[in-house]
Amino acid sequence: MSAIGVDIGGTKTIAVRLEGSDVAASSYRVLDRATDTIASIAASVADVADGTETAIGVGIAGLVSLQDRRFVWGPHVTGTDLPVGDAIEERFGVPVLVDNDANTALYAELEIGVAMGYRDVLLVTLGTGIGGAIAVDGELYRGGSFAGEWGHIRIEVGGLLCDCGKRGCWETRASGPALERLAREVAVANPASSLLRVIGDEPITGPAVTRAADGGDETARALVTEVGRAFGQGLADLTAIFDPELIVVGGGLGSVGESILGPARRVLADALHGGNHRIAPTVQVARLGPEAGAIGAALMAAGGDDGTRHR
Ligand SMILES: [Zn+2]
Repeated sequence: MSAIGVDIGGTKTIAVRLEGSDVAASSYRVLDRATDTIASIAASVADVADGTETAIGVGIAGLVSLQDRRFVWGPHVTGTDLPVGDAIEERFGVPVLVDNDANTALYAELEIGVAMGYRDVLLVTLGTGIGGAIAVDGELYRGGSFAGEWGHIRIEVGGLLCDCGKRGCWETRASGPALERLAREVAVANPASSLLRVIGDEPITGPAVTRAADGGDETARALVTEVGRAFGQGLADLTAIFDPELIVVGGGLGSVGESILGPARRVLADALHGGNHRIAPTVQVARLGPEAGAIGAALMAAGGDDGTRHR
């Protein structure tokens, strides 16, 4: 059986066509703020469709109403209150499921990824912002609809302006843009910095800085460590609330691995209350990589499963 999954985030759309649980085709599209969200999703579906698909799943970064299959709102995705499910179903003529992309990514990791066999799991995506999803006793937990949007918990009074319009959100200190901002501060303060020589003619982006850090540049390592520590402080707060067995870290920046996760794990261990009497949860990189959200959307749609029925 073939099913299509699409994951639309702040900067790109990823689509996969699954045969069983294997990726048979995939597509990556770069987005800008002017792009129509439903048209982008439809174009990505069309990229991988071959006429054999029996279901389509769509994961979207932001607030999604599972029941209505609508994208409600998100700071990184264009449009509000969009009837994504109805529009895509009308266009392609197969059943369509719509969910938050962190929920679909966690579903994929529970089914075929690093979270197989675990029951109490948090997924934290670290990329353009921070997203999240919660599994309690093996089932996705959504609250009313929107649980897991902890990128917007306030970690400092005042603080930096967030894309959501509030100040001091966790993702203003821990995200790709946060790392870029730190690197730009270095560029202004010290135009002769080794970091700028290492990055060269490339634009200053989060991935460029992490590559410089992994290549041994000390300034880049310090910046990545700062972001990793801010990330770990938030993980400690989440652990105080959920006490999960496992925290799965995904997203473009989270997937870079130890340069971010090493400092995050150390802060998590240090900041956990009662830390001498308990073990911090395992923190692991998502196994399914950048396609996890799309793969999970396809798996959910193929199984007619919203992650809360049969685990
Ligand atoms: Zn925010």
